[in-house]
Amino acid sequence: MKVITTVAELQEMLQTTNKNVVLVPTMGALHEGHLSLVKLATSQENSFVIVSIFVNPTQFGKNEDFDKYPRILDADIEQLNSLEVLPDVVFAPVTAEVYPEGLPERLEPRAGAVGSVFEGVARPGHFDGMLHVVSWFFRTVKPKIAVFGAKDAQQLYLIRRMVHREFADAITIIEAPTVRAASGLALSSRNRFLSEMGQATAPIIYANLKFVEVEIMLGEKPSVALARARAALEGLALAKLDYLALVDKSSFKPIDDSFQGEVILLVAIVYEGVRLIDNITFTIQEPA
Ligand code: AMP
Repeated sequence: MKVITTVAELQEMLQTTNKNVVLVPTMGALHEGHLSLVKLATSQENSFVIVSIFVNPTQFGKNEDFDKYPRILDADIEQLNSLEVLPDVVFAPVTAEVYPEGLPERLEPRAGAVGSVFEGVARPGHFDGMLHVVSWFFRTVKPKIAVFGAKDAQQLYLIRRMVHREFADAITIIEAPTVRAASGLALSSRNRFLSEMGQATAPIIYANLKFVEVEIMLGEKPSVALARARAALEGLALAKLDYLALVDKSSFKPIDDSFQGEVILLVAIVYEGVRLIDNITFTIQEPA
């Protein structure tokens, strides 16, 4: 596994292989969730796996945790080195490699309407910054395949759309299932900011998602199941619920009670001051 930091070195590395380049984009502070993406990448046939680590300034708002975001490259490399099958390259560019002319005034491509709902409300501009940098990585690394986590459902939706619109579907996107602690809490680099009490009680978030799924499966109206879970999450002393919503997986638009098909149940909650997101996917079928 080679660790490189410049585009020049990357281009040299890319010339040494005619295997299928598989990209796993991350912001570092790796945990088992990220490692599962890397394992999926190395399990692809004839793959040349590049894990990128870059904390992208343009996807953080002014009052967000860009400065506080954990940067622990040595520990990340150690974790990757402990995998049974190692990735070929860790690409960890500094900001000036990605933005040689300074941070751009206009971010492209734009996330549009889907970028301004849910996460986009709390984090204006976040998805424009995210798409801009993922597009840069796609153009620079030229992967055949890229792996993203289902954990960031809105991000995944927008990336798939970008690959269709801007890259003529030339990159295959693999969706990796969300890795959870045994408690059900979705792994996140931000979980380290939770207290012991927070870590022990935050699994209530996932439990409520599963309650909504089960209730709908049992014939409850989606709006009623949602309202019940919303009330439960709003009643938590440690938390402030941002949104709990059911969207159509194919359009990312909220569904009504007559909807049938694949849905994503999304939640964002500020737990002990830490913003956590999670989601589950399931299918709403015609009542028997
Ligand atoms: P990040 O470093 O947070 O930008 O995440 C990098 C990639 O890891 C994204 O595609 C995330 O969706 C994915 N990811 C983050 N947490 C998890 C998790 N718990 N399970 C699976 N994938 C994850």
